[in-house]
Amino acid sequence: MNYKIALIRGDGIGPEVVGEAVKVLDTVGEKFGHTFTYVDVLMGGCATDAVGKSYPDGTAETCKACDAVLLGAVGGPKWGSDKPAEQRPETALLAIRKDLGLYANLRPAALRPAMADACPLKKETAEKGIDLMMVRELTGGIYFGKRDKYQTEDRGLECTDLMAYSEKEIERIGRRAFELARLRRKKVSSVDKANVLETSRLWRSVMHRLAAEYPDVEYEDVLVDNCAMQLVRDPGQFDVVVTENMFGDILSDEASMVTGSIGLLPSASIGDTAPGLYEPIHGSAPDIAGQDKANPIATILSVAMMMRYSFHLPAEAGAIERAVDAVLADGWRTADIAEPGVTPIGTRKMGELICQKLRG
Ligand code: NAD
Repeated sequence: MNYKIALIRGDGIGPEVVGEAVKVLDTVGEKFGHTFTYVDVLMGGCATDAVGKSYPDGTAETCKACDAVLLGAVGGPKWGSDKPAEQRPETALLAIRKDLGLYANLRPAALRPAMADACPLKKETAEKGIDLMMVRELTGGIYFGKRDKYQTEDRGLECTDLMAYSEKEIERIGRRAFELARLRRKKVSSVDKANVLETSRLWRSVMHRLAAEYPDVEYEDVLVDNCAMQLVRDPGQFDVVVTENMFGDILSDEASMVTGSIGLLPSASIGDTAPGLYEPIHGSAPDIAGQDKANPIATILSVAMMMRYSFHLPAEAGAIERAVDAVLADGWRTADIAEPGVTPIGTRKMGELICQKLRG
């Protein structure tokens, strides 16, 4: 098969980590008989430098003409908050998610076996294994609700942020979670604050309706405060965790920390029709950019997610994940994950070793 992939290399370490992911894609292509073709898309601070806008006209259309999008990272101090919105890289990130209709953010938090020592939790907790998928609603809720700021007579300035969710928005993310659970260990934990919030009560009622449609999937409601606690007490109990935008923002960072380094964690943002967008969870790491120090594994594992969720190629996804685990099991580490006394390897060497393992 021939797959067309939009590459947004971006800023900072973005081009370095995407470069290694492309080598892995080419190796998967050779091994499994696929052709991957690439379309470079300019977005982020580099686009501001080149054409004066972080999200040049036509970016969404170019991406929509591809089967998937791979993003390194965008941003950096050079394009800070003093710049007009159209020159800031964050504007481009929000715009592409909106234009591609990417309402579901998938973030796996899996403790790679060779990295168990990097888990900050108790040894017995880490040994039970952690392999959960956080599914966060990405285009609704309080981050997109109406905001207000007004002067009161007696209380000074007052501000409001409105959290709104419709049944339709909840149902589409809920369905994603149940479908994903069917590909995994068949359990959905839906996180809300139904004891306080009206939006959460609606969330819960829609989830219960869906749970009845998926009798093969185990279902539970978890209050958000309890979920935050359970993630550090016993994360192994979770399979798919689905929640609204702000709860998901916070819980997904918490879940990622229990697995060690941010240099290891991939993510996917998907919608119903347009291509999915795959990216590491880390940023552009300007402090180590251009020094061959960045860990490319998060981006390489993002490619594994692309195989599984956009191209429906689970064997190829598994091969990439096993190659990463094998390199880590051999003791190879980039600087961010190197234990004291271990000499770290660079970005390119890590990419090469993963390709070697893939070739077998
Ligand atoms: P960051 O993730 O870029 O870096 C945080 C720390 O982690 C740094 O010390 C960095 O060196 C290290 N790090 C990150 N990725 C690494 C990797 N692959 N290998 C080794 N070490 C790694 O977060 P930040 O410093 O808060 O943000 C830097 C810039 O990235 C900002 O402009 C921010 O807006 C942007 N950002 C972009 C995205 C995105 O493109 N999706 C996401 C987050 C932050």
